Amino acid sequence: MDMGIAGRTALVCAASKGLGRGCAEALAAEGVNLTIVARTQETLEATAAQIRANTGVEVKAVACDITTPEGRAAALAACPRPDILVNNAGGPPPGDFRQFGHDDWIRALEANMLTPIELIRATVDAMIERGFGRIVNITSSSVKAPIDVLGLSNGARSGLTGFVAGVARKVAPHGVTINNLLPGLFDTDRIVATMAAQAKAANVSIEEARRHRMASIPAGRFGQPDEFGRACAFLCGVHAGYITGQNLLIDGGAYPGTF
Ligand code: NAD
Repeated sequence: MDMGIAGRTALVCAASKGLGRGCAEALAAEGVNLTIVARTQETLEATAAQIRANTGVEVKAVACDITTPEGRAAALAACPRPDILVNNAGGPPPGDFRQFGHDDWIRALEANMLTPIELIRATVDAMIERGFGRIVNITSSSVKAPIDVLGLSNGARSGLTGFVAGVARKVAPHGVTINNLLPGLFDTDRIVATMAAQAKAANVSIEEARRHRMASIPAGRFGQPDEFGRACAFLCGVHAGYITGQNLLIDGGAYPGTF
């Protein structure tokens, strides 16, 4: 299916690896010119070069921390009026809620709630002027079903979700949609690292820890970043213009509820 967005521009945050990269690649495959952001210049440049070579689209690479005011200013200087914004950043650390102090909460809120809100604020009016805009926030299945060790994620991402629910309805008359994608378990560096820690704690091999986690997912496997990216590209396409304010789980059926 042609998504009808060739020649559009997208700002994709936290996109050198994992889910953000999956979104950048899928948008590039639709002919969207990109500005991609991540913290490590070398990895980011390598990703940009690969996307250019594979698709021929323009790819600007901005190495910065998107959770800081300076990082957001650098990203917006490179891409001041994106048609498409994909919000993403690293997730907060796991732990018992008693260990999280005020500074931990502020960091989680900055990364997973206030940064996407600031970027929406900075870009949405130009989208409204043009009568077209697509905003996708990468959040987490923890918004729908809390994960006990991820209190920071459960809380900060739920704050973003509440904000998006309201603002999506405000901008809907102008051809701008805002949706959240909620990943379950995907095969990315973050999950490899989490799995290694879990295997060590349980004194089992990493392979065994992976098998155990997969057994809890009806699809019997982890998701792949490219399938996440294609769902994002669909939400950014012209055919998704009537989908807004939604929270779409992509989790292989792991969430057990009927709705
Ligand atoms: P990943 O570690 O594979 O990739 C993270 C990417 O974000 C990298 O490109 C990294 O450079 C970049 N990044 C991280 N912090 C950044 C910052 N402050 N500024 C700029 N770039 C930054 O991670 P992932 O698995 O793709 O996860 C992406 C998001 O989705 C995270 O918030 C994660 O918590 C969330 N999530 C992931 C899963 C999963 O199964 N992978 C599940 C639920 C939620």
